[in-house]
Amino acid sequence: MGEELLLQDNFMSGLIRALKFNRFLALVIALNLLFYSSVAGWVSVITYASLTEIFIRICQNRALSSKKVCNNFLSLNIILTTIFLLMIAAVSGNKDFIFLCAIPVFQAILFKKPFLMNGIIGAASACVFAATFSVHQLMSFITVIGLLTFLGIALSKIFNRTHSKADYLHSIATTDALTGLINRREFDRRITEEFSRAKRHKSPLSLALFDIDFFKKINDTYGHNTGDIILRELAGLISSNTRSCDIAARYGGEEFALILPETSQVKAYELMDRLRQMVEKELFNKTRRPIRFTISIGVAQLDLTDSTPVDLVERTDKALYKAKQEGRNRVERAPFGFHFVTQKKEAV
Ligand code: GH3
Ligand code: MG
Ligand code: MG
Repeated sequence: MGEELLLQDNFMSGLIRALKFNRFLALVIALNLLFYSSVAGWVSVITYASLTEIFIRICQNRALSSKKVCNNFLSLNIILTTIFLLMIAAVSGNKDFIFLCAIPVFQAILFKKPFLMNGIIGAASACVFAATFSVHQLMSFITVIGLLTFLGIALSKIFNRTHSKADYLHSIATTDALTGLINRREFDRRITEEFSRAKRHKSPLSLALFDIDFFKKINDTYGHNTGDIILRELAGLISSNTRSCDIAARYGGEEFALILPETSQVKAYELMDRLRQMVEKELFNKTRRPIRFTISIGVAQLDLTDSTPVDLVERTDKALYKAKQEGRNRVERAPFGFHFVTQKKEAV
């Protein structure tokens, strides 16, 4: 799960980098168009640049950017870039532009989309043949694009090998081995990051801390191994019931944390109470000895009284303590402070 989060982060930053490269591509083509005064060319470049900007905005909206949405945008972006380059080649009458199709081919290689890679090479070859009716020209094109593709595949293999080692080491350092969630150290880094982001953008940020009720009794009754299974199953339940931009962490022994970006305290309370009820109803350790248990939760929203992430964590911890004091199996909110944000930006 932690590894998945890491891959998701890498995927997102790679996608946004690929989209930002489109800006550069559009600019280069626009400069070229100065020499081919073609209205259709300008329309294409403006449409392409506008769509790129829309894609970047959507992918940067963290509440919307689920892995599935971004994956679709990536394929769409690669196809769009190919169509754009073919159109520019057609309207400018300069078929050399077709060689720029090596760019979407590289992107398809980098993001492991062999189907798209073959499709682009096929479509570009067909266009070269349709434009020239020359087998000779077609063969030259296939040779050049084939060599570039081969080079791209070789480079991406070297790149992936180096990266997978780095990713592995990073995942060991940041992931909790038992639950697969991020560990306390990574939590501290992420909450600091989200804290600064929320303050900078004046957007809502909530934090939830929760703790299994009477977990010691579960360990004493069923054994430590069963306790471990329960911690793992609870982590799975948390991960599958939160948004992709929420950050779940194992905070301590039987304590978990959930960072909720773009979420007000009211919304966080609703979400966490739903999770609390889900846990209450769930049968854990089902295949061996089914066990039920409950969790107590504290939630707080970043407000003007929090000058550091530690302040927010402390207020959330106090709310959790209150939930325990008030009888457990409940969600308690930290006292309402001065929130500098409206609910406008809040994700559902
Ligand atoms: P409360 O409702 O007040 O939270 O009671 P509790 O029994 O859950 O709290 P307490 O802090 O007394 O006990 C926490 C227990 O969690 C004690 C510790 O042995 C257990 N624990 C911590 N980490 C692990 C772990 O990784 N695996 C297992 N099986 N147990 C753990
Ligand atoms: Mg505890
Ligand atoms: Mg406990």
